Amino acid sequence: MFRMLRVATCAGLLTFSAGFSTTVSAAELDIVASFSIIGDFARNVGGDRVAITTLVGPDGDAHVYEPRPADAAALQRADVILVNGLGFEGFIGRLVEASGAKASVVEVSQGITPLKASEDEHHHEAGGHEGHDHAGHHHHGEFDPHAWQSVRNAEIYVKNIADAFCKADKAGCPIYTANAAAYTARLADLDKEVRDAIGAIPAGRRTIITSHDAFGYFERDYGLRFIAPEGVSTESEASASDVAKLIEQVKEDKASAIFLENITNPRLIEQIATETGLKVGGTLYSDALSGKDGPASTYVDLFRYNIRTLKAAIPAS
Ligand SMILES: [Zn+2]
Repeated sequence: MFRMLRVATCAGLLTFSAGFSTTVSAAELDIVASFSIIGDFARNVGGDRVAITTLVGPDGDAHVYEPRPADAAALQRADVILVNGLGFEGFIGRLVEASGAKASVVEVSQGITPLKASEDEHHHEAGGHEGHDHAGHHHHGEFDPHAWQSVRNAEIYVKNIADAFCKADKAGCPIYTANAAAYTARLADLDKEVRDAIGAIPAGRRTIITSHDAFGYFERDYGLRFIAPEGVSTESEASASDVAKLIEQVKEDKASAIFLENITNPRLIEQIATETGLKVGGTLYSDALSGKDGPASTYVDLFRYNIRTLKAAIPAS
């Protein structure tokens, strides 16, 4: 009722939004975020001033996402489109093109120091080009896209999002800048929390198994070693020989714990757990938040939950 009233006072908005009445709001900007973690950053920066549509929702896997017709409609009316980039959203380039979207696509990972995808290293030793193609045309598997798994990188994401909002809505810029500063202060505290928690894990207990290589940036910045049967994308399943190699490696390296991920099928991890005698230590949130009632419905909660889960499963001595 309230919503309808607001719309009725603004004839221009009503005309523009005809056909999408369920999503019409008083917001200054219509934002599309490619997946849940970016959606949460956008909410923290934009507050009530932005309306956010998230394409790949809670517990969703963006690597293998298949767009729905509603996604194209959301992109078509968007003022700003936020994507991770680094080849994470394989679906996005074609979808943006097909939707006729007019908004610019902002790669919010821009400015981080990307990690090369390990499985690709031998193919690219000579080249080493670091150019950024637009609209998701990165060579598949060239970089590890999971940069949000370092809180330091998340601070860069937030700055990029605030810059993009300021460009699209100059009047709101002071609000976006203030929101981003407040949220970045929380992220700085979170980063310290992660360092303290992971720093307390004994040196001999720092090898962890998950199902795909989603924690490379966590490893680089916080010093826990992650190994996985699947590479930086979930697109290709691990082969029997990949799994056999991993089990061999676990025996040599004495992994201290094994975890499921919220976005992947548990079967492979359960098999590896059985064959190595490691007990499954719970679920880590890798590429998506949990639903609202879950334990990781925001980025800050995701990190805190992952740390608690890691600490609880890794022997303290
Ligand atoms: Zn992933």
